[in-house]
Amino acid sequence: MNSEQIEFKKLLGQTQKEASIKACLRVGDEQLECSGKVVHAHSIQRGKILESIADGGGENEGKIYHLGFSPAEDMQSMQPEFKLQGIKKFSTFTGFCGGHDKAIFQPIEDVAFSATTKQQNIYAYRAAAKELHSNLESKTFCEVLLGDKLNVDDFPPHYQMMLPHIKRGERVVPDFILEVILQGEKNHNIRIRHMQCGHSISELQQICDNLTNAIEREESSEFEHVYHALEGAFPIACSASFIPYFDHDGRRIISKQEEQRVAQSSAASHADMKNVMLNVFPEGGKTHIIFTFSKGNLSFKASIERLLKLEDEALKIGLSNIVLNYVENSAYGPKYINDNFSPDQIKKIAEVFAVSAIDRDKFRKSDINLFVARPTATTQRLVPGGSGRER
Ligand SMILES: [Zn+2]
Repeated sequence: MNSEQIEFKKLLGQTQKEASIKACLRVGDEQLECSGKVVHAHSIQRGKILESIADGGGENEGKIYHLGFSPAEDMQSMQPEFKLQGIKKFSTFTGFCGGHDKAIFQPIEDVAFSATTKQQNIYAYRAAAKELHSNLESKTFCEVLLGDKLNVDDFPPHYQMMLPHIKRGERVVPDFILEVILQGEKNHNIRIRHMQCGHSISELQQICDNLTNAIEREESSEFEHVYHALEGAFPIACSASFIPYFDHDGRRIISKQEEQRVAQSSAASHADMKNVMLNVFPEGGKTHIIFTFSKGNLSFKASIERLLKLEDEALKIGLSNIVLNYVENSAYGPKYINDNFSPDQIKKIAEVFAVSAIDRDKFRKSDINLFVARPTATTQRLVPGGSGRER
C-alpha cells in the first residue's frame, strides 16, 4: 500500500457499512438453494484452528494476533504492528448464507484433515471466495466514492500533463483550478482501482466456479495443489489469495511486462491466471501448507518445488517470507509470538509485512523464521483430534 492506498483502506474501514456486501456467493446454485441469513463466515476456521491458536488464558484469552496497520501517534501515517482480535470476529466475511456455509465447508470442518484432493479444493475455494468477496466490496466502495464521476473522465490528458509541472512549481494556476485538477487525479486513481477490481472479480469468479465444479461433481480442475506438512502444530494460520511476483527468495517469477498485463486486463484463460491460494493451519500435531495455483502457472510451480527442496530451517524461512510478504489474513498465537520473539524481532516482522503491503512491487527478503520453536505443551494439548473441544 502506498499512502494513498492506506488512506483508501482507512476510508474503507470507516465507510464499510456503505460498501459492505451481505450476499451469498452461491445464490442461484442449482444443487442447493440458499437458506437462512447471510452469516459471518470464518475464512480461517474458528473451532478447529483459531481456538487452538488463541491464548488459552490470561488477558488475551480467546484472542489472536494478526498483522495490520494502526494510525501513528501523530495520525499522519500508519504503523504496522501485531494487533489483538477476538476469534469470534477475526477473518470473517459476509459471503455465504448459513445453508451454503455449512454445506460447502462441512468436509473440512467436521472431518480430520487428511490432505484429500477434495479437502484441498475446499480450502483453496474458501481463500478465493474471501478474496472475491473483498474485491466485490472494494469495487462497490469505489462506486460509492465516485458517485456520478464513475463514467466521467474528469482528469483529461491536458490535466495529466499539467499537474507534474504545477507540483514542481514550474507552473502556477488559480487555486480553484488546482483543486479541480487534484480532485480529477484522485477520481482517476479510484477509476483505475475500480477497473482492476473488475478484472480480479472476473478471475476469482472463474477460479471459484472451477473449484466448485471440482468439489461438487468430482471433476478434475484447472488448478493443482502442492501440499507440505511441517512437524509440530505451530500456532500460525492463514487463508489467502494473492499474485506472487517474487519467489521466497525475492527473485522475480512474474516479469515486469507480465505484471503490467495482469494489472490491465483479466486473464484470457485459466492457464494465464497468476492468482495463488495459500492455506496454512495447525491440526493433528502438524502444520499443513497448501499452495493452489493454475496448472498453467509453471513458473510458480517451479519456485515452490525449489522451496520444498530446501532443508528444514531454510524452508521455514522461505515460507515465512512468503507469508509475511503476501498474506494479510493471518493469525498468530499471542503467547507464542511474545515468548519466542524479542521486541526487536517482532518489530522486524511487522516491517517485513509492511513493505510489500505498501508496495506490491517490492519484496523484503528477511531471515525471520516464524516457525521457530517447538510447539509448547499447551499448544499440543489444544490441537484437535478427539479432545472433544467444542466447535
Ligand atoms: Zn446461499
